[in-house]
Amino acid sequence: MRKKIIAGNWKMNKLAAEADRFAGDVTGKLPDDDNVEAIVCAPFPFLPSLVEKAKGSNLQIGAQTMHFEENGAFTGEVSPAMLQDLGVTHVVIGHSERRELFGETDESVNKKVHAAFSHGLTPIICVGETLEQREANDTMTHIESQVRKALEGLTNEQIAASIIAYEPIWAIGTGKTASSEDANEVCTQIRTVVKGFADEGTAEQLVIQYGGSVKPANIDELLAQSDIDGALVGGASLEPDSFLKLVEAGT
Ligand code: PGA
Repeated sequence: MRKKIIAGNWKMNKLAAEADRFAGDVTGKLPDDDNVEAIVCAPFPFLPSLVEKAKGSNLQIGAQTMHFEENGAFTGEVSPAMLQDLGVTHVVIGHSERRELFGETDESVNKKVHAAFSHGLTPIICVGETLEQREANDTMTHIESQVRKALEGLTNEQIAASIIAYEPIWAIGTGKTASSEDANEVCTQIRTVVKGFADEGTAEQLVIQYGGSVKPANIDELLAQSDIDGALVGGASLEPDSFLKLVEAGT
């Protein structure tokens, strides 16, 4: 049985003291349940302190992006080795905001996924369609292409250890959630696509999250679906109470 994985994506929010306060508020209250994992993907400056504060708790700390190169002349970038060295366990790769605003491509996403595995980091790989693509019935063609390109060249073992976050772009930060049935339909199809180039066992192990206006009020319904194994949550992950409720829903 696949675990439920709830990951908060803080995006560019909070100051250091607020990040620390969040960790102080949640670490002792997270459920002690092997079937659910709780991750907070925070801005780079907060990572060392969050990793420290999360030690010995059920909270894992992730980054929101990284470069794929080991080191070198890449002003402003952060390498996978730096994240590994800090004790970060996860990294969001190819979030639609990164693809739209910072020029990430399927190729760079694939390089970053490989780099994550080379450094013991679990990639949370984001895929999702625009409203135009959905209205033109191009959702699955687009998602299939993003999934294939992101996972290209990985071993089955690495695919099984990956997390894919299906985030319809029109549902991110808009308050509009895909219906749980529509979200599940895409997640099921992602698993079918993966079965096609990996094998059935690998595809069954792959954790697929839904993301896009997930909140305590809709998480139960989403997690009740056959192929939704968790959530990547922006706005509703910022407050400790709300984050704890989302994680509770996974138990
Ligand atoms: P949201 O963001 O929950 O605020 O819609 C989700 C995301 O972008 O990961």
